[in-house]
Amino acid sequence: MNSFSSRPADVVIVGGGIIGLLSARLLAQQGLRVRLLEAGSIGTQSSWAGGGILSPLCPWRAPEPVTALCSLSQTLYPQLAAALFEETRIDPEWTRSGLVFVDSAEIAEGLAWCEQKAVETRLLLPDDLQALEPALSRAGAASLWLPSIAQVRNPRLLQALRASLVKLEVDLVELQQVTGFETSEGRVTAARTEKGWHAAERFVVAAGAWTAKLLAELGSTLPIAPVKGQMLAYGAAPGLLSRIVVSGDRYLIPRRDGVILAGSTVETVGFDKTTTEDARGQLTNFAERLLPPLRDAKILRHWAGLRPGSPSGIPYIGHHPQLHNLVLCAGHFRNGFVMAPASCQLLADLLLDRPTALPPEPYALDAAH
Ligand SMILES: Cc1cc2nc3c(=O)[nH]c(=O)nc-3n(C[C@H](O)[C@H](O)[C@H](O)COP(=O)(O)OP(=O)(O)OC[C@H]3O[C@@H](n4cnc5c(N)ncnc54)[C@H](O)[C@@H]3O)c2cc1C
Repeated sequence: MNSFSSRPADVVIVGGGIIGLLSARLLAQQGLRVRLLEAGSIGTQSSWAGGGILSPLCPWRAPEPVTALCSLSQTLYPQLAAALFEETRIDPEWTRSGLVFVDSAEIAEGLAWCEQKAVETRLLLPDDLQALEPALSRAGAASLWLPSIAQVRNPRLLQALRASLVKLEVDLVELQQVTGFETSEGRVTAARTEKGWHAAERFVVAAGAWTAKLLAELGSTLPIAPVKGQMLAYGAAPGLLSRIVVSGDRYLIPRRDGVILAGSTVETVGFDKTTTEDARGQLTNFAERLLPPLRDAKILRHWAGLRPGSPSGIPYIGHHPQLHNLVLCAGHFRNGFVMAPASCQLLADLLLDRPTALPPEPYALDAAH
């Protein structure tokens, strides 16, 4: 077996999305020599394509294991964003913009959930909302405002993570797709790419929507499948909208520089990432009806990403049942950013055999998800 690199790694991580990058940072900070293998370019798949809202769209609908990861992550994010800025001078724009649900038929459920979880909330009558967000179309009924919900500018967070990993001397290997693994006596000994083998003591698979394909190489099945999401970015004047606004299962996200994202579609069409005129029409109708000044704003970009879908949105985080030095962290579906710091903390705890930040059972590979 030809080893690809003479520098041995303690851990090889497969996948350079938010999950692989954040895991690499946590493990390198513990003094491990980490190599990260990425099939394309780091941070250009689902993690780049997402919206960066640091909450499930309707948090009251999320299963408890998802809520547990989100709640822990929400406490970790301000410090993570500040530390990354300090280290790299790249600002991930963590912003507590708040989130407003307009025309929601689930106000009662939302209020009850917020009260139970001690999440700050306010009920806004149509006049109240108009005073806060004058450019929005007038709401037909009361809206629910969660002022503490934050967002990050995900492409910038990914850039900051990458720069942080370079400083931590993580070996970043791009354009190398892992095509299989070498195993011996219940352990993985190396990951195979078209350019060679990468040996290590331990392995992490964080391959997003592609995770099931990769695990099939090991004879394992996991119900993680791609779910396409299309988004638009409008260039608007800064301040046109201040809060994230959710209506139905669509949303607008205002960035600090005036860019407003309109998302997103939920499509099960396999590994197809093409954008469609139909989705563009649906998103512009939604966005321009909710925020009429967008009719005069330029659409800067239209893109699609493949979310790593799992049956109930609960990610798989845990040891492979047969190959004990392989840990998996994938299947975050629509909430990969909000769950990432807590998920990667749990992964690092499991990999390093130390007490876990959260009970790991609900995320185990053989748990009923
Ligand atoms: C339109 C849209 C909007 C979203 N909005 C939000 C939001 O507002 N808030 C939120 O929390 N989440 C959101 N999400 C979900 C979030 O983006 C994902 O859950 C998250 O990015 C998943 O991260 P990941 O690292 O698992 O996957 P990815 O970012 O897809 O990373 C996986 C990486 O693994 C690499 N890879 C795959 N196979 C191999 C292989 N064999 N060898 C080497 N490398 C491999 C891929 O190239 C890829 O770079 C959104 C997603 C989309 C698409």
